[in-house]
Amino acid sequence: MSDTDSQTHTDTLRTPIVAVLGHVDHGKTSLLDKVRGSDVTGGEAGAITQHIGATAVPLDTVSQMAGALVNPDDFDLPGLLFIDTPGHHSFSTLRSRGGALADIAILVVDVNDGFQPQTKEAIDILKRTGTPFIVAANKIDTTPGWNPQEGEPIQKSYEAQSQRARSKLDEKLYEIIGEMSEMGFSSDFYWRVQNFQKNIGVVPVSALTSEGIPDLLGVLMGLSQRYMKDEMAIDVAGPGAGTVLEVKEERGFGATLDVVLYDGTIRKGDTIVVGGANEPIVTEVRALLQPRPNAEIRTEKRFNKVDEVAAAAGVKIAAPDLENAMAGAPVRVVRDRDIDDVIAEVQAELADIEVTTEEEGVVVKADTLGSLEAMANALQEAEVPILRAEVGDIAPRDIAVASTAREPEHKVILGFNVDVLSNAEDELDHSDVKLFEDDVIYQLIDEYEEFVDEMKRAQQETILDNIVRPCRFRILKDHVFRQNNPAVVGVEVMSGTLKNNMNVVKWEGNDAKRVGQLSGIQEQGEDVSSVRAGSRVSVAIDGPTVGRQIGEGDELWIELPEKHAKILEQELRDDIPTDELEALSGYLDKHRRRDPFWGK
Ligand code: GDP
Repeated sequence: MSDTDSQTHTDTLRTPIVAVLGHVDHGKTSLLDKVRGSDVTGGEAGAITQHIGATAVPLDTVSQMAGALVNPDDFDLPGLLFIDTPGHHSFSTLRSRGGALADIAILVVDVNDGFQPQTKEAIDILKRTGTPFIVAANKIDTTPGWNPQEGEPIQKSYEAQSQRARSKLDEKLYEIIGEMSEMGFSSDFYWRVQNFQKNIGVVPVSALTSEGIPDLLGVLMGLSQRYMKDEMAIDVAGPGAGTVLEVKEERGFGATLDVVLYDGTIRKGDTIVVGGANEPIVTEVRALLQPRPNAEIRTEKRFNKVDEVAAAAGVKIAAPDLENAMAGAPVRVVRDRDIDDVIAEVQAELADIEVTTEEEGVVVKADTLGSLEAMANALQEAEVPILRAEVGDIAPRDIAVASTAREPEHKVILGFNVDVLSNAEDELDHSDVKLFEDDVIYQLIDEYEEFVDEMKRAQQETILDNIVRPCRFRILKDHVFRQNNPAVVGVEVMSGTLKNNMNVVKWEGNDAKRVGQLSGIQEQGEDVSSVRAGSRVSVAIDGPTVGRQIGEGDELWIELPEKHAKILEQELRDDIPTDELEALSGYLDKHRRRDPFWGK
């Protein structure tokens, strides 16, 4: 597109595509509604038009809304195309040739709330995609003592405020500028910015009172005109290129594609190539659909059929075989090119969206290619391996795949912005696969990591429960209650935990001689299953006779199988109490005097 020399007389400047991002509840939707809703009646302004997935605001309308801030004679860009679905989720979905589909973005920040997790996530995405953006510091009308100036530019609005209100707002705006700087961006009040490529402009606005909206539009237009004019020069008659927003079932049309076209033209009858779940789909456009204007809402049909659509625009494409098309995938009109070249182009773009899968790991499902890629990046950072990653709702097959994971912590499906198909619900209930769902990536991953931590803790506890634990105890003097069958003696537990049914050994030199098995513990006349170090209890031992194998004052130990001793020493030493650890090292020392490698 930048090769201007080769472009023909059909070169036209297209509308820049604008996306709105920011933390939940900071006012993205309200801001968009304000821009879309403030249709200017009368005058010569062209109407704001509703596209599929986007709203087009022509230059003269922008100019009417922005007043003195936008003089239409200064611009040759035709207006602005706002993507209707706000949020960085849709933003990262909307890609074009490896970059962001949106040419420019508005990052909405609530002046009271400042930077929140999704604000930062959005900035990361903007940074990664190199998308120019401005900050809309929203909800300025909530400043204490604010005197609202409906629809006015910010300068005028400022002038109407008390000194106190003004400095209150400035304080909040400086906080935002400070947070921008922490994220590595130099920013300032937009009217002080000389070079918008070096400094991010902060525009104070209110989506409630429309104050500052003229400024916002003015800055968007100015920025686009100044820095993006070259990119906006397209061969409008050339073959169309776009990105799938959504794959939708539409009555009477079957599976259709909601597409944002960013280059060229698409016509009815065109052969197109679309990125599909398995392979590129080659098909022919049956119909191009646009929403009916509100005035015609009473007609049965929701769409108008059109013969051609030129970039930039949102359009619904009806064509056969679109069931396997993927949201976020590229769409290309073939026109007079070699179809294999176009297929290769689509394949190359899909290959660009890289998700590395491994032999073992979790299953990831996401609603679009872009979000799938974002999930994969985040999981890689969290060092979570991926067994399979796909676009689409959760189907029975996903559960089958997840259940083949070896590790229990990987028998998991992470679903981002997807549903569970009804025929998969039952299967999920009856499987050992666990599903995590969220529409915020970092929350989804946090939830999963918490689950893994919890699982590891539980595993460790079960291991500890099933492992023989070291214990040293001593037969008390004058506490022999029965000689044998079983021997019953009073003991003091010196370290560790004494548990019933364990084998008992006594050291003879460096040999642990088994003397019998514990068959009962009584503490103050009550049967108990275990007692901790420091307790004095009476125990029954099957096997020995007091005065022969054991005697008053003898030190006895619970017999530790070598394997258990090894697990205790190598894996669980941080999880057992100090006195038990002491018993363990005493036990190991004795064995190792005879065999240095015992328990290693
Ligand atoms: P989103 O989640 O970012 O799309 O936020 P919304 O547009 O849904 O706004 C969240 C809430 O903030 C809603 O209750 C809006 O009415 C309110 N809101 C949005 N912008 C403004 C504003 O400029 N001033 C005030 N006072 N409230 C606002």
